[in-house]
Amino acid sequence: MATMASKRDYYEILGLKRNASERDIAIAYRKLAVKYHPDSNPGDADAVEKFKEAAEAYEILSEADKRARYDQFGHAGTDQFAHQFHDVEDVFEAFGDIFSEMFGGQRRGGGGRRVRRGADVRVDVTLTLEEAARGVVKNVELPRNKACATCKGSGSKPGSQRATCPHCQGRGQIVQSAGILRVQTTCPSCQGAGSRVTDPCNDCRGRGYVQERAKLDVTIPAGVDNGMRVRLAGYGEPSPEGGPPGDCYCFVAVKKHKIFEREGTHLVLRMPISYSQAALGASIEVPTMAGPHELRVPAGTQSGDVFRVRGRGMPDPRGGSAGDLHVQTYIEVPKKLTPRQDKLLRELAEVEKSEVSPHRKSFLERLREYFTPNEAAETTTKE
Ligand SMILES: [Zn+2]
Ligand SMILES: [Zn+2]
Repeated sequence: MATMASKRDYYEILGLKRNASERDIAIAYRKLAVKYHPDSNPGDADAVEKFKEAAEAYEILSEADKRARYDQFGHAGTDQFAHQFHDVEDVFEAFGDIFSEMFGGQRRGGGGRRVRRGADVRVDVTLTLEEAARGVVKNVELPRNKACATCKGSGSKPGSQRATCPHCQGRGQIVQSAGILRVQTTCPSCQGAGSRVTDPCNDCRGRGYVQERAKLDVTIPAGVDNGMRVRLAGYGEPSPEGGPPGDCYCFVAVKKHKIFEREGTHLVLRMPISYSQAALGASIEVPTMAGPHELRVPAGTQSGDVFRVRGRGMPDPRGGSAGDLHVQTYIEVPKKLTPRQDKLLRELAEVEKSEVSPHRKSFLERLREYFTPNEAAETTTKE
């Protein structure tokens, strides 16, 4: 191995300037890996050294924080991180991915010793707006694999042993040659386990898992909205290799409400009021998610005016402050009139003929402003 004193500069090894991009570094390394690849230089000890040297340079320069240390302190700053590539297999182990990428697709190289997690599962829940506002515990049912009880997930009939995989001789990885390059991939015969079931368990046919209908209680936090998901860590499927289980993701859908419309954490309510309430002002009772609320509507309220009731929207599922309820009024015209209402309205109509109503006057004023901008300035100062 090269000693500290004779160790070459990593940029020099890869033939790059110090401002090389991440992509330049990857490309330069791949070129050298091809050039010094042991398969194209059989028995050449110098090529092996160069192959390992390039891998070390790539290992440091391809990671931003290690590269920054190297740029600042040189080898002294990164030797503690530098991998000791004792032989060519170490290089494949560390950078299996970059070799695989050259051939496309097979990214999971070099994973022989990694233990895979179990798969994630998905379940959908539909909530009413009231449930979403309060938060709720939902009991859900979903199909999920669980470890077979008979063989405890091994897939082997109790008492029988697994045998070394003949395809990879127990290494879990196979090396495929493609031209002068070798690609290390997970063994397709044993999926990386290195061994195989010889006498399969009857209950799971050697798979190690059986399907169950899992029942879970999912705690949905208050304020959830359509499309949000709740993660239940560890409630996915078991790992076939004894690793940690996957997660369960609970996707939330919230049903449309009859009267409230949701806008983020705010709720919008369209509230009918009568002409007389609008004209004279009134105290009206509006529904909210937390029960009825008394709202003062001032005299002269127009259709489309919005009144805000603070804190009566939806809670923020991330712990922020709750939204508001926006009450938008509109004037409801009665479809049927009692004889007395009819009489009074006719009287009113007669009065309105001789006197322009304040609402109509301001509308006429606005019309005038629109056509003659100079007068408009005067009008606004008067108000
Ligand atoms: Zn079994
Ligand atoms: Zn195998």
